Amino acid sequence: MKTILTNKHISIKTRKRALQCYIEPVLMYGCEAWTISKQIQNKLEATEMWFLKRMLWIPWTANKTNERVLNEANKRRSLVRTIRKRQATFLGHMMRRGKLEHLVTTGKNSTQSTPALISALRLKLQDLEAEKAQKQKCLICMEPYKTPLTSIQCWHVHCENCWMRTLGAKKLCPQCNMITSPTDLRRIYL
Ligand SMILES: [Zn+2]
Ligand SMILES: [Zn+2]
Repeated sequence: MKTILTNKHISIKTRKRALQCYIEPVLMYGCEAWTISKQIQNKLEATEMWFLKRMLWIPWTANKTNERVLNEANKRRSLVRTIRKRQATFLGHMMRRGKLEHLVTTGKNSTQSTPALISALRLKLQDLEAEKAQKQKCLICMEPYKTPLTSIQCWHVHCENCWMRTLGAKKLCPQCNMITSPTDLRRIYL
């Protein structure tokens, strides 16, 4: 890559395009989730300048201002601007999806963010728990488990009531017909 970017036989326009296509995506990888501080912004801009100076064969000792380098490269600072644009797109996407991700990415900047973040996390947790309870239904009564018991014979899980009702009739697991007695049942906590 270096040989292309610094090759004087290739026009600066082509090399700038190469920088944009191959280097910038690497620098910006995952940038949607970054919180860009002034310090990080300076580092990114310095990296961008480092590439441009290499491409233009400007030694560090030349002591040219960044503005002059940008002028010579006929390029505007774009890295930080592009990152901000990508973050804005990502944020818009997240705001449509839900409040939580929005708060996580903006959290630090707002003074009222902590209680809002906590309530958003609590809502998200409730959602996940409701989702989990939905998935964990007893196959016999099709209700969420109240007192889930598992059999050490087949490890199937059913409500205590469902086990007792089935085992009262015949000593078999209602799901797989494995011979099961009430002493094989263990209370589990899902
Ligand atoms: Zn049941
Ligand atoms: Zn079973």
